[in-house]
Amino acid sequence: MLGLMQDQPLLISSLIEFVERHNGDGEIVSRRVEGDIHRTTWGGIASRSRQVANALDCEQLLFSDRVATLAWNGYRHLELYYGVSGSGRVLHTINPRLHPDQIAWIANHAEDQILCFDLSFLPLVQAVHARCPGIRKWVALCDADRLPVDSGVPNLVSYESWLGQQSSDYDWPTFDENSASSMCYTSGTTGNPKAALYSHRSTMLHAYAAALPDVMRISAQDSVLPVVPMFHVNAWGIPYSAALVGCKLVFPGPSLDGKSVYELIESEGVTFAAGVPTVWQMMLGHMQTNGLKFSKLNRTVIGGSACPPAMITAFQENYNVEVLHAWGMTEMSPLGTLCTLKNKHLALPADAQLQIRMKQGRAIFGVDMKIVDGEGNELPWDGKAYGDLLVKGPWVVKEYFKGEGGDPLVPDAQGRGWFPTGDVATIDADGYLQITDRSKDVIKSGGEWISSIDIENIAVAHPAVAMAACIGVFHPKWDERPIIAVVKKPGAEVTREELLKFYEGKTAKWQIPDDVVFVEAIPLGATGKILKTRLRELLKDYKLPTL
Ligand code: ADP
Repeated sequence: MLGLMQDQPLLISSLIEFVERHNGDGEIVSRRVEGDIHRTTWGGIASRSRQVANALDCEQLLFSDRVATLAWNGYRHLELYYGVSGSGRVLHTINPRLHPDQIAWIANHAEDQILCFDLSFLPLVQAVHARCPGIRKWVALCDADRLPVDSGVPNLVSYESWLGQQSSDYDWPTFDENSASSMCYTSGTTGNPKAALYSHRSTMLHAYAAALPDVMRISAQDSVLPVVPMFHVNAWGIPYSAALVGCKLVFPGPSLDGKSVYELIESEGVTFAAGVPTVWQMMLGHMQTNGLKFSKLNRTVIGGSACPPAMITAFQENYNVEVLHAWGMTEMSPLGTLCTLKNKHLALPADAQLQIRMKQGRAIFGVDMKIVDGEGNELPWDGKAYGDLLVKGPWVVKEYFKGEGGDPLVPDAQGRGWFPTGDVATIDADGYLQITDRSKDVIKSGGEWISSIDIENIAVAHPAVAMAACIGVFHPKWDERPIIAVVKKPGAEVTREELLKFYEGKTAKWQIPDDVVFVEAIPLGATGKILKTRLRELLKDYKLPTL
């Protein structure tokens, strides 16, 4: 017997319709590429996303055709999020920090038809347009009078003139909720980039889950600043969850330095912000140097790479801001786990709470996870056994776009497919996940594993260290030994010996790095994460002093 409830597909257009009706005057504030602050409302976004949909109809784009963006976080990008997906096309957000060759490859692989870009990416567009014959229109996200002349880019229009002639009346179409809505390529550190193709259903379920009290806890009372880019995994789903709850949204545009982010948080009364550790490192540095405090910010979600415990403590003790440590990946839309305490933890002393908060957290309802050994046997949730982390759920990929790289899933005894995350983790009896490492970054020393994350976390707790990255280097007896590359804080001093001494008592003796290499900068990848592959290349001639 079937239930007798209405069969209404979960579609992204319903979010923008809902927020327009219930929070139409909710503010959307953007720092623009032009340098100024732009203000609109959810009602304004809804109206202009309907204009986007009409413009795409005029271009005769078909259902599921791809529209690409090369854009910062801002209101026009948000209009494209809703106008493109809502009208049944697929929004392909491209990471502008990728190499032009990769961008051209991705745009062709995705078969993008229109590409909308912020003016700061004009040089990129000039570098790739001749290699992307399938793109029939290039839309510069600017007013008509800012459209560059003699750019050499064919079929170039300004977004405002493209929209200007369109009506803001549009009936959002109804279709299967499993239809594709948006796509995002992984950074492809090995092989070609692979695309996760999200659906309306996966996006909507993720949006519900992301807003929950033990997840991002977003409500209509919040002013939310996604520093995490809309060009990578849909800014962790915030553009959708924000509409679902009707909060104020604040976009940083291209200005991600500590000063700009801090000023925006203060001027727009931001209560909740989201970003990767490197961004917060810059902001905390700026605040410390200038003796600044927050007036309204009360929590921040930090993920994308491990959040050092020193950062969690700095936010909490110095600024009274709760850190929600999160883990996820492109293939998971991206949220998998998020760290909040349970009722029974509230009476624990601060130190014991920190031990929990530094973990990546508990699975969000909708995500099943398990850890397995090399033979695929499930390991216990005891906080000690570590193994390959596998996940499944309605917002986890089952296949990559165009089957790139073959079937990504591993079947269990019941034939259900699990997605191997490439991470090594422990899970404790309370269900808290702790990522030990990426399987390719873990250091294998004499048959034992050393977590590069643990070694980095200790280094960045030293007051003179701005950034640290741990890699394994060849050792004839132990196979690999850890070394730590360190960037010092401006004006701060620490010697190799002092730093190695700092490790004593904080980790097992055999896990202490064999050497410290001081460097000017540590290479970061397109999403602000430490690029270990590049660091290994840079240090390829390095030899351990002990050899
Ligand atoms: P890529 O960087 O390859 O494009 P993603 O952006 O999807 O991929 O990153 C996913 C990976 O980032 C995870 O598999 C994990 O290794 C790492 N990661 C994400 N969040 C955390 C976290 N909080 N702690 C440790 N590692 C994390």
